[in-house]
Amino acid sequence: MKQQPHFPPDYQILSTRALETALHKVPAYQSWSKFDQGAAVPIAKRFNALPKIDKKDLREHSWRGFVPNDLDIDKALESGLVEMVNTSGTTQERVTNIWYQQWWNESEAASWLYNKHTAALPLGNHREAILTSPLNTGVLAQNGFLPMTERMLGRFLYLNEKANPGSWDDKIIRRIIDELSIFQPIVLEANPSYLAKVARFAHQHNLPVFQPPAIIFTYENPGVLTRRQIRQAFSAPLISSYGATEAGYVLMECAEGKLHQVSSSCRIDIEYLRPEYGQPNLGRLLLTTLTNPWRSLIRFDVGDLVEIDTTGACPCGCNDGYIFRQIAGRSANLTYSVNGLPITTAAVEEAIADCSEVAEYQVIQKSGRYDVRIVPAEDIVLSSAQQKHVREQIIEGLYPLYRSKDKIAVHFVDEIQTEPSGKYRRTISDIELATDSLFLKGG
Ligand SMILES: [Zn+2]
Repeated sequence: MKQQPHFPPDYQILSTRALETALHKVPAYQSWSKFDQGAAVPIAKRFNALPKIDKKDLREHSWRGFVPNDLDIDKALESGLVEMVNTSGTTQERVTNIWYQQWWNESEAASWLYNKHTAALPLGNHREAILTSPLNTGVLAQNGFLPMTERMLGRFLYLNEKANPGSWDDKIIRRIIDELSIFQPIVLEANPSYLAKVARFAHQHNLPVFQPPAIIFTYENPGVLTRRQIRQAFSAPLISSYGATEAGYVLMECAEGKLHQVSSSCRIDIEYLRPEYGQPNLGRLLLTTLTNPWRSLIRFDVGDLVEIDTTGACPCGCNDGYIFRQIAGRSANLTYSVNGLPITTAAVEEAIADCSEVAEYQVIQKSGRYDVRIVPAEDIVLSSAQQKHVREQIIEGLYPLYRSKDKIAVHFVDEIQTEPSGKYRRTISDIELATDSLFLKGG
């Protein structure tokens, strides 16, 4: 069943304004007028009739192509009102964005209202510790380590200066735990995979950890396995915040564990998977910014898949906008069953998570076979009989997804490598993503 969300009163007005601005004033959308159904048609229908854009379009038109032509961007850059930033990732992934701090701050503050813990905290000028790759944000150290003072920037403490958490030794994990106690952040913002590594270590060595009033996950989607591992050491509220450099804050997890659309700053359109794939609640996110005057972003395919909440309501009381059960992973990270059904990273993680011996995993589909790499939990040395048991359990778990047992091979490894961006890619396929045949046009 498709969700029919209730939107706040000005949502349609802001959506119409964003669309009219794009069609009449923004060079990148010049060719879109022919798709527009006109002002007499409901706004959702007008949006659904339009094409979409992705990172490739952002690069091709360059940042200037997305600035409305009645604004003086050069003057705004000169005065420092806006600035240019580059997103992380490989050369192909990188995009130059116009950065408007005020818009970002407002959309972040709007996201805090969707969770009772963040809504109750005095946020905005708070102490915040950040645990992620310095390639995402922070201070990078190529060689050696940096003292705490060199990783502090204003109200922020960057807990990690290494590009890859694979290079962490016990000393750095202990230091992260110690610095949390010293700094006592109001918010710990963390890449969940990185925090899971710290939590596993703390649990294994019986180390107490400082419990911040809120732990906010960004940079990566927290799966069921990483959440369970983090819970072994952290009792603080775990809150997933989903956003993008291009689109601001988009979704916020409430205390009931559902993801709410930040509907005052972002419009969402969903294109669902085609019915033949049998996963009617899954779709891809198309994002439209409603409140950033300096960059017009309409139907931006951010590359992530969502699973809607079928009830369409939440006991937390926030019932404006879309409500999701989870982010299901990136479209580019889909793997496929032997009969071609797309399988999300979230589905794979749910299938593997029951196996308590697993610390980390990665599934690589190549030439019709599925190689499953497993890093065993740190405190477990698996005997060959236990390895056999884990193998069987993993294959049993993945069989309903991939529909073949013979083609799944489980390997035990010491480490899963991160991507050049410092993020983990848990599922990879050599089958090229064919988005046009996967999704229903128009939602
Ligand atoms: Zn809720």
